[in-house]
Amino acid sequence: MDLSSITVYAEGGFRRYEDAKVGLLTHGLQYGTGCFEGIRGYWVQEERELLLVLLRDHFERFATSAKILTISLSKSIDELVDITVELCQRNNCRTDTYVRPFAYKAAEDVGVRLHGVPDAFAIVPIPFTPYLDPSGLHVCVSSWRRTDDTMAPPRAKITGLYVNSALAKSEAVQNGYDEAILLSHDGHVAEGSAENIFLVRKGVLYTPDPSQNVLEGVTRRAIIDIARRELGLEIVERSIDRGELYAAEEVFFTGTAVGICHVSSIDRRIVGNGTIGPITQSLSNLYQRIVTGREPRYEGWLTRTYASAGVKV
Ligand code: PMP
Repeated sequence: MDLSSITVYAEGGFRRYEDAKVGLLTHGLQYGTGCFEGIRGYWVQEERELLLVLLRDHFERFATSAKILTISLSKSIDELVDITVELCQRNNCRTDTYVRPFAYKAAEDVGVRLHGVPDAFAIVPIPFTPYLDPSGLHVCVSSWRRTDDTMAPPRAKITGLYVNSALAKSEAVQNGYDEAILLSHDGHVAEGSAENIFLVRKGVLYTPDPSQNVLEGVTRRAIIDIARRELGLEIVERSIDRGELYAAEEVFFTGTAVGICHVSSIDRRIVGNGTIGPITQSLSNLYQRIVTGREPRYEGWLTRTYASAGVKV
């Protein structure tokens, strides 16, 4: 990817990607003491518009992650929203876009800690490239366990915690799978390496509750909302056994990058008939319609990059 033409927000202003430097000894890099977000912008050609999805929810989680790490953000949620919109405008983003805000401990010295260290934050937008194969995933249960909240809180999107995800993802891919499912320390289902997980059994939707060492996914919450409101489904948030993965009729992942992505097999056991199940399909269709601006009742989920500034296109 050619990053040289990208404008980023860093050090309190807009600058070229190449001009925004981070020193080698920076704490966030050395110790993983940072947090980040992943935000999706859907380009809708007919409207000539970039729709940023659940922008405020992402920045609310960002602020929570920062608070947990005692990083002070120096910007309000409204300001972060405005900066992001302006950043997309300045980059003239006219394709599906992924926005990556991150905040980190910015001291350049040796000595791991959170206190007494200056903070920094930046936002980088890049063109979106599909993350997982939407035609169905072959997944395995990882030999790595999900980090427990008593070690470092997974509900915060902490940079250093992604070592856990990277170990699980690479193990899965190098063993011939597409993705990993991590269990918690106590053996219950937590989530994928970068996705929340849902199961369907006898028409009921199950997903691990937020105390199961999962990231409190923005898409997870969105799917729970539309499943309940639009499809009238019963949703149960509780701890889930590994065996329930194998017994489920449908299994799917949710995430900003992946949207809704169905799982075709788990540990070589076919889920349903291996293709996308009816409930997953309905949710996926609905979600896709919402994020591309075709469900007026869900306008509130979307920030219109160009219309919001009255920019003529
Ligand atoms: N779990 C983890 C570990 C993740 O990295 C992500 C991606 N942010 C998710 C779940 C899904 O969260 P969201 O729907 O907010 O993208």
